[in-house]
Amino acid sequence: MRAARTDTARLTAAFRRLGCRDTVPRRKITELVAGMDGSFTVESVSRGLPGIGRATVYRTIRLLVAAGALCRLSMPDGTPAYSVARTRHHHHHAVCVRCGAVDPFDSPEIERALQSAGERIAGEVVGHLMEFYVNCRACASEASAAAERAPGEGKAT
Ligand SMILES: [Zn+2]
Ligand SMILES: [Zn+2]
Ligand SMILES: [Zn+2]
Repeated sequence: MRAARTDTARLTAAFRRLGCRDTVPRRKITELVAGMDGSFTVESVSRGLPGIGRATVYRTIRLLVAAGALCRLSMPDGTPAYSVARTRHHHHHAVCVRCGAVDPFDSPEIERALQSAGERIAGEVVGHLMEFYVNCRACASEASAAAERAPGEGKAT
């Protein structure tokens, strides 16, 4: 299990760095997202907090992204999703397309390749975004187990 309490403290500290007040809705949102293991969306956080407006959830998440406490992920269909930042250093993510699990990674090889590609781009490169979309280990083994079960399915009484 993740140390959600540590993440809550880190996210709360991020607000303080930004000079934001630690309001009750913000605290609730912070506690909820700190306990999230994988990726989440504004909608999924809103569903978990029916008493708090969607706009408040959105603004709070945006503040946490600005503070570097949350990462903004790009899902294959373009939906913005978020995850708790496990590191403040530049990194990328492997995102499971089935369950939304997020694995941060950094790769000097990728950075070198992107940098040399950037040298051929007209204009000044100010950033890049790159995610790997994966079937995580748990989902891949679940899928192969389901495939093995499938032939006998429906025959049991
Ligand atoms: Zn990240
Ligand atoms: Zn998965
Ligand atoms: Zn990079």
